Amino acid sequence: MSLHDLNWLVSHTEPKASKMVDQLREHGVDHEELLALMGTIPRHDFVEPAFSHLAYSATPLPIGRNQTISQPLTVARMTEWLLAHSRLGRVLEIGTGSGYQTRILSHFFNKVHTVERLEPLYLQAKSRLSSMGVKNVEYLFGDGQTGWPNKVEMDAVIITAMASKIPLALTDCLKQQGILIMPIDQPSPQIGCWRKEGDRWKCLGTESAYFVPLLEGMEHA
Ligand code: SAH
Repeated sequence: MSLHDLNWLVSHTEPKASKMVDQLREHGVDHEELLALMGTIPRHDFVEPAFSHLAYSATPLPIGRNQTISQPLTVARMTEWLLAHSRLGRVLEIGTGSGYQTRILSHFFNKVHTVERLEPLYLQAKSRLSSMGVKNVEYLFGDGQTGWPNKVEMDAVIITAMASKIPLALTDCLKQQGILIMPIDQPSPQIGCWRKEGDRWKCLGTESAYFVPLLEGMEHA
């Protein structure tokens, strides 16, 4: 292989975090701390190794066990909603997956509670984030539809798997004025942000996005 070929290969396969950040800006993401954070988190460490060269592309990618990490813009949008509308105390995430969104939440919230129903992903995300020095996260292997075990009240709930109805346990654990972010498949696949106002929900934004389904029960390794 010539030096020219090698340079081409490096420039086309090297992770491109800065390019990803430029693309996020082009799509209107303007929270500087979030952009800086996403520019430094090694997204290539969160996807299946065979796809690490695509880690900073505008696409969802496999993370193992037939699950996917959302594309960067979707992650950024969900986080921007939280930063704009939520108190940054306690957040519950349903669907730990690779731990990428968890890592971002841990930067902004005092405490992150995260639940994953697939044991291998739960174990992997837990050790990955611990080795990155993340300390303010509590991990749970279980079915997130039943909420967090000891009924702690949350400032925000973020569901990163698509459901057709909202699990009641998840809205119950949300404080008044709390923020719910979840994907819905009606009328078309999208992610939405709502504020709990009494027994009503005020929609604060939606954006088209695709997510893997929210499933019942849990699966051991
Ligand atoms: N936020 C993740 C996205 C992972 S994809 C990331 O940044 O990588 C959605 C995840 O939700 C999958 O790992 C899937 O196993 C999990 N999931 C689906 N239904 C669930 C449930 N009922 N409880 C907990 N996790 C669930």
